[in-house]
Amino acid sequence: MTMERREFDALIIGAGGAGMRAALELAEADLKVAVISKVFPTRSHTVAAQGGVNAALANVLPDSWHWHMFDTVKGSDYLGDQDAIEYMCRAAPKIVYELEHMGVPFSRLDNGKMYQRKFGGQSQNFGGEQAARTTPAADRTGHAILHALYQQNIKAKTHFFDEYFVTDIIRADDGTVLGALALCIATGEVMMVSARTTLIATGGAGQIYKTTSNALINTGDGTAMALRAGLPVSDMEFFQFHPTGIAGRGMLITEGARGEGGYLLNKDGERFMERYAPNAKDLASRDVVSRSIASEVRDGRGCGPEQDHCLLKLNHLDEATIAKRLPGIRQTCITFLSIDPVEEPIPVYPTAHYTMGGIPTNRYGQVVAPFGTGPEEPVPGLYAAGESACVSVHGANRLGGNSLLDILVFGRASAKHMIKYLKENRYHLPSNEAAIEQAMARLQRWDRKGDGESVTDIRVEVQKTMEAHCGVFRTQDVMDEGVAKIRAFRARMDDAVISDHSKVFNTARIEALETENLIDNALATAKCAAARKESRGAHSRLDFTERDDKQWMKHSLFYLQDERIEYKPVQMKPLEVDSFPPKVRTY
Ligand SMILES: Cc1cc2nc3c(=O)[nH]c(=O)nc-3n(C[C@H](O)[C@H](O)[C@H](O)COP(=O)(O)OP(=O)(O)OC[C@H]3O[C@@H](n4cnc5c(N)ncnc54)[C@H](O)[C@@H]3O)c2cc1C
Repeated sequence: MTMERREFDALIIGAGGAGMRAALELAEADLKVAVISKVFPTRSHTVAAQGGVNAALANVLPDSWHWHMFDTVKGSDYLGDQDAIEYMCRAAPKIVYELEHMGVPFSRLDNGKMYQRKFGGQSQNFGGEQAARTTPAADRTGHAILHALYQQNIKAKTHFFDEYFVTDIIRADDGTVLGALALCIATGEVMMVSARTTLIATGGAGQIYKTTSNALINTGDGTAMALRAGLPVSDMEFFQFHPTGIAGRGMLITEGARGEGGYLLNKDGERFMERYAPNAKDLASRDVVSRSIASEVRDGRGCGPEQDHCLLKLNHLDEATIAKRLPGIRQTCITFLSIDPVEEPIPVYPTAHYTMGGIPTNRYGQVVAPFGTGPEEPVPGLYAAGESACVSVHGANRLGGNSLLDILVFGRASAKHMIKYLKENRYHLPSNEAAIEQAMARLQRWDRKGDGESVTDIRVEVQKTMEAHCGVFRTQDVMDEGVAKIRAFRARMDDAVISDHSKVFNTARIEALETENLIDNALATAKCAAARKESRGAHSRLDFTERDDKQWMKHSLFYLQDERIEYKPVQMKPLEVDSFPPKVRTY
């Protein structure tokens, strides 16, 4: 196999909001930046974000960054690191104004200021009245942000490698990251991109589940690359199920629909959220609303002939409001359900949505890991941001509107630190040919065709297994069985083959590489879930129903080698303000 070699100052793996915000900062500092994306940049999954980005602008109701911080800590079920959360919430208004100046067409109020809607888990005055902190561009916020960032990057002369699939990061023998190996999807040719510093921004792993709001591309490639490179991933047991996926299909109905006044009903026409969250009701935190819907269905109060979903009612809202604020949602319902939400309620059920865990970083985006038995240290040259990273601002449960914020704040913070790193590390290091060869060998394995189990079948089985064994409610036996099955899938991949009929543009080979990545993400998720013997945020156990701060106020770190799990303490100390100590979490 021939191999092209390219050299850049900085390599960004991923062209979503996190990758593009980082690339822009680096390119504007006159650095030579490469962005690699397996899809055309504006097809990255950030494009799908609907409801908006959080920032305490106080344009609609009183607000402060400190209230935002409180809500985020509480939403995280006290597992979020409070230094990173303070940093993010303070930075939020500036980040949103920057986007406005880049040309993002945010929705407007009559007075010309940016409109802000109510989202789940938001409060005024540290747990008081509902706040309105989510800044939307109708219900197509991600689309607007991603396109603006792409245009700004083109202007700043960022170099894009579109439709290249990164297989592995390459490390020197001392652990320094030297760049990554990528496969051109159209030609099948391999390219080694050497860089003095590398950022992983590859997004989430929502494809480990069968019913998901995530696109086919969200296969956790970056987290799997980190695992293969001997690094840990953190807090993978915390996977968010969004309460309002279209029942049976998984596509998302934004929380903004409830923010605009929509509410949930069971088969008796009861607004059941009043029982589960008497104050916040339908705008309680996502983990709470998802469990409530699942409980209604489990207890026989589900709707439809199979009693397998609840209803989201919007048809009491004014048609003009839906047309102005939720046009994409209305179109999605008409296209996929033949239901117009102006006239009929929408059938909904929780859908796999967001990977709270990821590659552990500090608030500068540096990937941090313990070396041997020593304390954790930054991995030289390596950064991570966005949904593939765990900084950790979301802890055990992310608040809606905080992910777009996370990707922008920490994309930018990573780039700022990378600029500093580049000043201190002025020269490229020699390449590590043995590591490149090892990565090439993995790639070449997937030239295998002929008789054997199909990779596609294994991928589907992984997704079904995760849905059945590691869903909204969890128990020990069921999770242990899931772990055993996932381990078996790993073994079955050794003999699996790629399907001959789908070899167009190397897509079958890509599917095999992605399936390997999915399996490693699924294993990390299920193993860490089975190990955590408490209920916290999105990790809800029927056999350990309470949060246990004494034993479990800690982040998990999963290593592929020996499936080892270690733990590290939560950073309870913020930067300048007082810490928010754990309390019983009610809405
Ligand atoms: C339907 C939906 C609606 C949402 N709405 C909101 C919202 O309103 N507000 C909010 O805050 N959050 C929302 N979220 C969450 C939020 O959109 C995502 O968490 C966020 O956009 C992720 O951004 P990212 O930059 O980390 O990754 P992504 O945008 O997923 O980008 C990942 C990039 O990595 C590239 N990549 C991945 N693997 C490889 C590889 N092996 N080789 C090369 N390139 C690779 C991809 O091509 C892509 O460019 C929503 C999520 C979904 C699914």
